[in-house]
Amino acid sequence: MTTSHAASETSAAPVFVEKRPLERYAAPAQPSLVGMSREALAEALGEAGVPERQRRMRVQQVWHWLYVRGVRDFDAMTTLSKDLRGSLAQRFTLARPEVAAEQVSVDGTRKWLLRLPGELDSTPHEIECVYIPETDRGTLCISSQVGCTLNCTFCHTGTQRLVRNLTAAEIAGQVVLARDRLGDWLASQPAANVEASGEETKRGGREPERRLISNVVMMGMGEPLYNFEAVRDGLNVIADGDGLSISKRRMTLSTSGVVPNIARAGAEIGSMLAISLHAVTDELRDQLVPLNRKYPLRELLHACRHYPGLSNARRITFEYVMLKGINDSLADAKALVRLLKGIPAKINLIPFNPWPGTKYECSDWEQIEKFSEVIFAAGYASPVRTPRGRDILAACGQLKSASEKLSARERLALRAMAMTD
Ligand code: SAH
Ligand code: SF4
Repeated sequence: MTTSHAASETSAAPVFVEKRPLERYAAPAQPSLVGMSREALAEALGEAGVPERQRRMRVQQVWHWLYVRGVRDFDAMTTLSKDLRGSLAQRFTLARPEVAAEQVSVDGTRKWLLRLPGELDSTPHEIECVYIPETDRGTLCISSQVGCTLNCTFCHTGTQRLVRNLTAAEIAGQVVLARDRLGDWLASQPAANVEASGEETKRGGREPERRLISNVVMMGMGEPLYNFEAVRDGLNVIADGDGLSISKRRMTLSTSGVVPNIARAGAEIGSMLAISLHAVTDELRDQLVPLNRKYPLRELLHACRHYPGLSNARRITFEYVMLKGINDSLADAKALVRLLKGIPAKINLIPFNPWPGTKYECSDWEQIEKFSEVIFAAGYASPVRTPRGRDILAACGQLKSASEKLSARERLALRAMAMTD
């Protein structure tokens, strides 16, 4: 079935492998400081009249207000002179990505539809950001592009023609926004609490495990390794120990397999890595993840084996979407185990989330269980995640026909269920 499906699709429509971003970020007249890197912030302070010799110190102060306290008003930056605050307010804002919609599940999962500016005169863009609380952690799923450079055939985002790369500030801004909505800033803690634990002395922030958001996964919209510099810079802002302070070991970047940038991600980002594998043969992967035609399995797995820092304590997560009758046979499960042999790996089986017009169906639950048993027997623990945020999902499902975007949101919620371990 797989073969004939693949052959007919190849002859009918040659699938193009990559799209180019069609839109660019158009900076507003008064840019926001939120999400800026230290370098960008130093430049902004220079524009506001801070002399070169004071810039490092001022950057450090503003950094604290932006990323430890989460202030939304320049007047709250009390370690800066009134003049400097005024000068900053004239040129810049502290705007966050705009929240177009927020949904909260009974289990605490939250989803935000965020609105980002489009190019001049065009409509605004929307991306999704999802927060998933668990007993021992809280994970935020963020996006790297509006739409996606690639066209995986089972992915709704891939069908979107419009692509815009997010800026580094928009990437880090998602964490800032989520901390706002969750009340997850240092200032939101009762003062007595802060003093009693002496938390402020710890490089200006609470200990990471005390934060509601302890982990970040780049598994929302977009292919992060096709927006490399912005993703790298945005994640560096998020990881900064004097600010948002989410360590790289608590960040996972998911890629469909942009091989040359995997090594680069290891060298320049150093986060945990997830690979959207989804198939165990090139023939099928060429269909599901057309980028495979450019970077086939052999090259992809070679890049994985050489990912810096790989060990049993730092495994690569392989994501595998369960598509009925396409990639879900027990022979596929065994082949998957063979393929990953020797790579310190985790496997996440993701129930396929259908969207209007898709030709795929989610595998039957019994089949997912049988598949997961094969994986489990090979020594991989609990590969299917407990679904989260079901109630919000149901609400989205009811509205599905009303808007394509809601379906994309639904996809993300399902994705959120399946990720992290
Ligand atoms: N572009 C990156 C990260 C974003 S997609 C990547 O592909 O890895 C995050 C994950 O969701 C990927 O593993 C992707 O394959 C999966 N996914 C996409 N569409 C899906 C769907 N309809 N149902 C279930 N998972 C899906
Ligand atoms: Fe892009 Fe990932 Fe969707 Fe593929 S699965 S189209 S890479 S977002």
